[in-house]
Amino acid sequence: MTSSVTSRSASAGGMPAHGLMRAAVLHGAEDVRMEDVPIPLPGPGEVLARVDVASIDFTDRKVYQRGQHPMIRIPGLFGHEWAGTIVTVGPGTEGRWRPGQRVVAANSAPCLAEEGPVCRQCRRGRQSMCEDLQYNNGAFAPFILVPSRLVRMNLYEIAADIPPERIVFAEPYACVLHAVRRVPIHPLDSVVILGSGPMGLFWVMALRRRYGPDLVIVSLDHQDDRLTVAKAMGASHALNTKGRAAAEALGGATGRPDADVVIEVIGTVETHREALRLVGRGGVLVSFGGVAPGQVLPVDIGRLHYEEISVLPIYHHTPADVTEAVRQLVAGEVPVERLITARLPLSELRRALQMVADRTNLRTVLIPDA
Ligand SMILES: [Zn+2]
Repeated sequence: MTSSVTSRSASAGGMPAHGLMRAAVLHGAEDVRMEDVPIPLPGPGEVLARVDVASIDFTDRKVYQRGQHPMIRIPGLFGHEWAGTIVTVGPGTEGRWRPGQRVVAANSAPCLAEEGPVCRQCRRGRQSMCEDLQYNNGAFAPFILVPSRLVRMNLYEIAADIPPERIVFAEPYACVLHAVRRVPIHPLDSVVILGSGPMGLFWVMALRRRYGPDLVIVSLDHQDDRLTVAKAMGASHALNTKGRAAAEALGGATGRPDADVVIEVIGTVETHREALRLVGRGGVLVSFGGVAPGQVLPVDIGRLHYEEISVLPIYHHTPADVTEAVRQLVAGEVPVERLITARLPLSELRRALQMVADRTNLRTVLIPDA
């Protein structure tokens, strides 16, 4: 109730928003609370947006379970994928941003030359490894503050006729595009994607879009419903490897028990081990699913050397990847909306987190409470 009243007054008058909103605050492992918190006031260079739709992903689930993650301060506001509408703008943004504009933002921004010396990683062109990467959270709330660096580097205006439920995937899709850009793939390659959850499906879409019909893309998973979607998204083969050796299933489908590129999209030691086994001579293991630090994967270095197998870990995205993700989504080049299988009001966040853990659906989006 509070939030809708404030929303109206903020957008109508263009005055700084004030009052309270009911937002998700993460306090620790498995401890998320819907609390009344102040609606942020945009300072210089900042904007305040109403969240029209938020998306919940496996990273959110991991953050929730672990109670810690590099991208979030705890206790703190929670959620990082959203699309919305600007309600108030801070001083210095007026020329570019105004209330009523539909927008999407990434969840981070690397360091910015205007703010001082750019860090060493950014100078090397490795912005996803920025030593001062600034993250933004708070998508699981009626309003979200976009800090000035993000406003300058990773906030995008979206035409009003583009559905927020498509554009909300800009951030996770940017992570996939970042990786696709960096993985060496030859047109004759066969590529295995280990995991057909939403990120694995984004991978299928992005690879098929970029490499055309000839690239052999094989999706592996233990759930037939997900594999059916993988096939519909363009996988050449979609194989259920539950209770059977993946190499054998792969050999049956492609005539080879291994692949040139294997992408691990699940994020466990065991699936990394399985992925490594599937990499063929001269091949690449892409470690894309994040595993909590401290877990160890034993590696046969002799095999790595004599078979020239590379391990390529890829994290996060850069502003250029976010720009390209937004462009593809706006143009409708990838059918990302197909992944939405549930819509819940924000107040049911805990249930949405449970659904991610249960893997009973693909993507759940959260919409403002009526
Ligand atoms: Zn930097």
